[in-house]
Amino acid sequence: MKQVSEGVYFIPGQDELIPDSHVYVIGKPDSGDLSVIDAGLMGKGQYKIQSILNFGIDLKDIKRVIMTHTHLDHIGCLEEILGEIPHAELWVHTKEAVPLEEGDEKIVYGMDMFQGMCQAQYGIKPGAFKFKVDRKLEGDETLEIGGITWEVIHVPGHSGGSIALYDRAEKILIPGDVVYSDYAIGRFDLFGASGAQHRESLFSLAELDVDVLLPGHNSIVERVSPGYILETARQWEPYLS
Ligand SMILES: [Zn+2]
Ligand SMILES: [Zn+2]
Repeated sequence: MKQVSEGVYFIPGQDELIPDSHVYVIGKPDSGDLSVIDAGLMGKGQYKIQSILNFGIDLKDIKRVIMTHTHLDHIGCLEEILGEIPHAELWVHTKEAVPLEEGDEKIVYGMDMFQGMCQAQYGIKPGAFKFKVDRKLEGDETLEIGGITWEVIHVPGHSGGSIALYDRAEKILIPGDVVYSDYAIGRFDLFGASGAQHRESLFSLAELDVDVLLPGHNSIVERVSPGYILETARQWEPYLS
């Protein structure tokens, strides 16, 4: 875990058989208006909460959890985290917020086979991932939160309601599972995924000036080489249709 910049904290996922998503906490410490980005895998809530406390952050200053998307490795411990921070709002892109409120778990598990396996492995009951969403994001919002301005960008493809958060001033991109380090991208074969949309999303992120890439998994990149996302998009383009 580390502080990436003033107002951006990184809590690495603790992968098991299934990956555990990274969590970022964004917002300047004295703003009293911090946000947690993503939650993680089942059972990782206490680890994430303890990590937040270890940064010296007061849980009362956490005002919301914003989900980059609602796959199991990101939302698995959301309930554990909201249990510790019950006043926190939940913000999700509308494409995934609506099924989440209805208790439709197809996006959470991504495929039927995976659903059965995870429910057995972790003892998850059907209907475990039903949440009230306080704010449904559309994309194109500008969020003035925690003393930092974040642009919300809808980047479907990995999942229908994937969003990226972009701090234009500091050139920091939080892309969820859309693009990782080492020219890797998120999978595009799960429920609600689309190779063609993934391609478009990659090329739209490629237009941003990005110095710091903070993805949902794998390494973070603190000195992104110019044109990195464009090069990644080009390498994958033949497979994305
Ligand atoms: Zn994902
Ligand atoms: Zn993920």
